[in-house]
Amino acid sequence: MARKPLIAGNWKMNLNHLEAIALVQKIAFALPDKYFDKVDVTVIPPFVDLRSVQTLIEGDKLRITYGAQDVSVHESGAYTGEVSAAMLAKLGCRFAVVGHSERRQYHNEDDATVLAKAKQALKHGVTPIVCIGEGLNVREAGTHVEYNLEQLRGSLKGLKPEEIAKVVIAYEPVWAIGTGKVATPADAQEVCGAIRGELAQLAGPEVAETVRVLYGGSVNAKNVGELSKQTDIDGALVGGASLKGDEFATLSAIA
Ligand code: PEP
Repeated sequence: MARKPLIAGNWKMNLNHLEAIALVQKIAFALPDKYFDKVDVTVIPPFVDLRSVQTLIEGDKLRITYGAQDVSVHESGAYTGEVSAAMLAKLGCRFAVVGHSERRQYHNEDDATVLAKAKQALKHGVTPIVCIGEGLNVREAGTHVEYNLEQLRGSLKGLKPEEIAKVVIAYEPVWAIGTGKVATPADAQEVCGAIRGELAQLAGPEVAETVRVLYGGSVNAKNVGELSKQTDIDGALVGGASLKGDEFATLSAIA
């Protein structure tokens, strides 16, 4: 079954709500409706921008979707600073990134936390984009495939096949994030192919064929074409280049 590519722009902690509106307008202007028949494009702004992005996208009936950079493991209650999956769903968020390497590194999130976040998102109809990826030491040791599969198993542990069918996986080697050092298409395919193989073990081959596996790490308009041609790469999670409206639109059109 053909998988529709997904390009997701992770803005990280950049852009206030006014800048967010300007960027979405720029992307929409540069990416006419016809492109959305072949690619899904989503922006992942900071929480505080989401309401403004929603108003713009719904008001102008844009085909761009949007999501959040994180979600709480909790349903609701006395968890200061947290944002629940129910709140994101109410805001029209289609996606929530879980387990980004910056959350794993700076907030000590482990696979169990990532799994709990993914479950919350699924429970409320928000698609989790589950991030995994090895550091440079693991890559240099040559154990990157098994390392990623271990993270994948831990982050999806106990999910039913029909739940796994609803997730997006993002393979993001940590050494490639924000460094300008993109993985070669062959290196990215090696891990994304192994991820799909593991998804088949966990949820069956039919489910594995439908799950979108993204590559992330220094993706830009120049390298997205070759990456997207790989059998098991179904789009990209984009950081830096997602802050430039023209480039993000261009790379979305190429993917
Ligand atoms: C990311 O933050 O998920 C990412 C891939 O960043 P960049 O594209 O800047 O490497």
